[in-house]
Amino acid sequence: MSEKINCLIIGSGPAGYTAAIYAARANMNPVLYQGIQPGGQLTTTTDVENFPGYPDGISGPDMMIELQKQAKRFGTDIRNGWITKVDFSNQLKLWVNDEHELDCKSVIISTGASAKYLGLESEKKYLDCGGGVSACAVCDGFFYKNQEVVIVGGGDSACEEAHYLSKLCSKVTMLVRRDEFRASKIMQERVKKTENIEILFNTSTVEVKGDGQVVTSILTKNNITEELKDIPATGFFVAIGHNPNTDIFKPFLNMDSTGYIINELGSTKTNVEGVFVSGDAADHTYRQAITAAGTGCMAALDAERYLAAL
Ligand code: NDP
Repeated sequence: MSEKINCLIIGSGPAGYTAAIYAARANMNPVLYQGIQPGGQLTTTTDVENFPGYPDGISGPDMMIELQKQAKRFGTDIRNGWITKVDFSNQLKLWVNDEHELDCKSVIISTGASAKYLGLESEKKYLDCGGGVSACAVCDGFFYKNQEVVIVGGGDSACEEAHYLSKLCSKVTMLVRRDEFRASKIMQERVKKTENIEILFNTSTVEVKGDGQVVTSILTKNNITEELKDIPATGFFVAIGHNPNTDIFKPFLNMDSTGYIINELGSTKTNVEGVFVSGDAADHTYRQAITAAGTGCMAALDAERYLAAL
């Protein structure tokens, strides 16, 4: 037996919750599945200083709690669970945790994106055993208090996380693969000015070394001189960007080569009628909380018009 749903929202980041607020206020009876990372990527960030309306900033997790409260206040049915399977061939059918079948009139995809890793075998080994590899400084930094850590990446995430770690750890070494950062000037300045952050440009990771259980050092290579260097560290943080969480939709939705869903220009419509997309699942350009929230609002309005026309 499948459950009939008027408006299904998948994902609980700023896009999903904003879609839920609009859909609930429009009496669309939205049901929102939170996914494996309730609250989305913002739950792994520190201060959000650029979301309008918070002149003193707000922590990412606090912002997500507020958004959830607001979505609930208007009657969104917020559920735990992960959409594992979809079939858009005839109707809009989806399955929660492979078992519970949903038969939907409209679907808003707000599944966001997930952290990328380097792909080294040694990185995976210590990630899988919880031995010192992490893609979230805010979640795991505490475990490396007064210890030396290495972080890889040269974007805003890497700078933000390096700065966060510098307040906990005795030393943070940043590995940037080119001779310059990708990060904004203000973030670059912040890490450059921090005494216990050492920045190594033109440097890549060769191996995450350890004793079989925990990380003990990172073997690096200078990309110009080819010189190898072993940097003592108990933690290895990866901050090199994200992949969109769109795999389950691949057979049905148009996507670009990296898996970002392609929406109709100026709208959140996908190539399947009744399926809309918002947030980072369709956005490799802006990837901000405010833009995700904006497209969440658009998706709810598009879904409302679609349902009204049915
Ligand atoms: P980005 O894509 O902006 O940066 C990724 C970084 O990782 C780049 O320096 C890239 O190098 C490097 N990199 C990628 N692959 C590898 C690899 N295999 N080995 C080594 N290095 C690698 O991702 P971010 O997550 O930093 O940021 C995403 C978006 O979110 C951006 O728009 C950013 O501005 C925004 N953001 C904003 C924040 C804020 O305003 N507070 C905080 C965090 C993110 P290269 O440059 O050579 O490609």
